[in-house]
Amino acid sequence: MAAPLVRTEGLCKDYLLGGEVIRAVHNVTVSIVKGEFVAVMGPSGSGKSSFMNLLGCLDTPTSGRYLLDDVDILAQNGGSMARTRSRKIGFVFQNFSLLPRSSALDNVELPLKYSRFPRRDREALAMRMLDSVGLAGRAHHLPTQLSGGQQQRVAIARAMVNSPSIILADEPTGALDTKTGLEIMQLFQRLNQGGITIILVTHEPDIASQARRILRFRDGEIVDDTSVK
Ligand code: ADP
Ligand code: MG
Repeated sequence: MAAPLVRTEGLCKDYLLGGEVIRAVHNVTVSIVKGEFVAVMGPSGSGKSSFMNLLGCLDTPTSGRYLLDDVDILAQNGGSMARTRSRKIGFVFQNFSLLPRSSALDNVELPLKYSRFPRRDREALAMRMLDSVGLAGRAHHLPTQLSGGQQQRVAIARAMVNSPSIILADEPTGALDTKTGLEIMQLFQRLNQGGITIILVTHEPDIASQARRILRFRDGEIVDDTSVK
């Protein structure tokens, strides 16, 4: 088997809230290889987002190990962790998280500034990414001038622009109607067929059934890990 792209060992995240310890992620050991398409399911409050935030280097665990592409993420300092995040990870959120006063094109270009991609090539690359999600004709629209599905396509183009190793999507279809959600899933399928690893949180069995592996969380732990096909 190929070396895992993502490997966690005994990963834990506790939150301290009003003197009470909340075990959001508890003792999670999992490996995900390059090219997998994984759905993360589980009831509300079971730790899915906390787990995704740890994988995305948006948060640090209370204990445990996390290797991304064989790099021990927790041994990195803040600056290296931020660089890893910007080069290797693309995020897609339920509510799109686009900058409201920036055009679709500017939103897609933004990660290229953080990764210090050569300035003169940024716009052309961002335009290519928008084209690849079918939105070249909407490049100068503001997010409010786009439908939910179009906004999520912009967010996916933004997530892909730095050629990450992995896409982390936290309920990316949660704010969309069924038909639009399935169109967004087709886009993720296409990206996955192109080789990108995808980890996607969803409540909906229809959406999860499009992944090839389903991890189920309960009370912060993985209680089931099933390969679909
Ligand atoms: P899910 O995404 O599966 O709904 P979360 O990861 O958001 O679950 O939350 C897991 C648990 O951690 C919940 O009990 C939640 O209330 C708690 N939690 C999440 N974020 C915080 C935080 N920043 N501070 C305190 N508790 C939190
Ligand atoms: Mg969540």
